[in-house]
Amino acid sequence: MHRLGVLGWPVAHSRSPAIHNAALAALGMGDWHYQLLPVPPELLAETTRGLGGAGFVGANVTIPHKQAALALADSASEAAKAIGAANTLTFAGDGTIAAENTDAPGLIAAIADPLGGKRALVLGAGGSARAAVWALREADAAEVLVWNRTGERAAALAHELGGRAVSEPERAELLINCTAVGLTPAPGEELAQLGLTPALVGEFETVVDLVYREETTELLAAAQAQGARTLDGLEILVAQGALSFELWTGREAPLQVMGEAARARR
Ligand code: NAP
Repeated sequence: MHRLGVLGWPVAHSRSPAIHNAALAALGMGDWHYQLLPVPPELLAETTRGLGGAGFVGANVTIPHKQAALALADSASEAAKAIGAANTLTFAGDGTIAAENTDAPGLIAAIADPLGGKRALVLGAGGSARAAVWALREADAAEVLVWNRTGERAAALAHELGGRAVSEPERAELLINCTAVGLTPAPGEELAQLGLTPALVGEFETVVDLVYREETTELLAAAQAQGARTLDGLEILVAQGALSFELWTGREAPLQVMGEAARARR
């Protein structure tokens, strides 16, 4: 049996097992299985080092372990090092662990449009904002603006990864919400928490919200009402999962099957 899983704490809510097991089934890979790996921070290093010997080929990593996963790996990609976090680990036969970050290329793959020469506004300054800013810079975006509730964090992120911190959200072609706003519904308040108005949201061609929840976030609802192209957090989750899947299995990820599985539990 080839084993895969997702390391997190808590992780019971994760849709990754449904997404990956659907992909494995669609490709007839009956000797592979993807499972939850609920591991508290104090046991992460010890547990992760034992996974290769227990038959694991790879693991996704989610909150709160992404930085620790990078630190415990024996090698890491340029993306993982620059972002400072790993969401994908691969266990080699010799016992070594390689760290990758597919959040960044997954975001670019999901957006699918060429980003060269475009202006983007990233909201947030946490781990996913770091991945987004790095990815946009790699994709040759003309300018990456960074806004965050706590302005100093936006300034530090922009300085380190090459964006421009702004004290208020400014218009651009692409908007990416990398904050936790909307994770817990705040009816009538979500746009304001992001420093946005419906009119400003209408200035963007494409609006991406990394948050996923049962009902549409107020950001995506406003963007749809203004005719913008929108992508929700599940589309981003599937895109990064597909890249991890291809890394571990060497097979082309069945994106449609994975997308349907992600939404089936809604
Ligand atoms: P994080 O490192 O904890 O960062 C959280 C960010 O949200 C910070 O910038 C924080 O601002 C901001 N924030 C939190 N509450 C806020 C509020 N009430 N008003 C304004 N800003 C607020 O989290 P993360 O790992 O970057 O994840 C952020 C979100 O993306 C989460 O909802 C997560 O579920 C989602 N996500 C989705 C995917 C996917 O595949 N779809 C992948 C990764 C993350 P301060 O600095 O001011 O505290």
